[in-house]
Amino acid sequence: MKLSRTVRLGIGAIAVALAATACGGDEQRSALESAEAGDLTIGIKFDQPGLGLRNPDGTFSGFDVEVAKYVAGQLGVTEENVTFKEAPSAQRETLIQNGEVDYIVATYSITDARKEKVDFAGPYLVTGQSLLVRADNTDITGPESLNGGKRLCSVAGSTPAQNVKDKYAQDVQLQEFDTYSACVEALRNGAVDALTTDAIILAGYAAQSPGEFKVVGEPFTTENYGIGLAKGDDESRARINDAIQAMIDSGAWEAAFQSTVGGSGLPVPEKPTVDRY
Ligand code: GLU
Repeated sequence: MKLSRTVRLGIGAIAVALAATACGGDEQRSALESAEAGDLTIGIKFDQPGLGLRNPDGTFSGFDVEVAKYVAGQLGVTEENVTFKEAPSAQRETLIQNGEVDYIVATYSITDARKEKVDFAGPYLVTGQSLLVRADNTDITGPESLNGGKRLCSVAGSTPAQNVKDKYAQDVQLQEFDTYSACVEALRNGAVDALTTDAIILAGYAAQSPGEFKVVGEPFTTENYGIGLAKGDDESRARINDAIQAMIDSGAWEAAFQSTVGGSGLPVPEKPTVDRY
């Protein structure tokens, strides 16, 4: 009787241990583990021409797409084994935290607030916030000219929206949409007076509709684009940093820029210094 009770307790302990192991097994794969298993799911934008765009035929194009694919290649994963998933600005941290993507290359600025939830490799590109207006607009020339109740569009969960809220919210009417393409439509049909986000994104929209819009003023922030991945996944981050460095050093970075967003007339920016914090 005594023995059998001990055995029962022993079995109970094993069951608890097994359950704990099963929970451990449910943990997310790291980006490197996914790559070793042979496939990667990468978050990109689907509606930003020149950066991350899903084309009508279902293919993907843009500088972020090229960076995503190059990094995948360096991790040993070919294009056919990459799945692109849309990563709207406000959902990026959640997509990473839930393990729905292995990493994100989606005009994603490295910020301290975001670093509390995710980690970043990079930067792989440096740009700055600017303004897009209709081509015939003459009174908006920079962020200060938005005072007086101008209607300004940006995207929820993005740094430009936050920046405008912090610095200009008293004098502008901020309208936040889920995507920049929705803002472009609002600008086109007159529902807003200006759209704010990074100059490089705005250049892509201006190039998509020649003669309709113009980028005004000088960029008024510095945005360091990083590749977002799970917090604490230092091994994957180090390998992704190596991949970005290899892309820059091999000339593939410049070529990718020129064949994508550089086509909208933007000069090739300075090569970023990959930060190994
Ligand atoms: N780079 C900014 C950000 O990460 C704006 C662009 C975007 O929303 O994707 O929030």
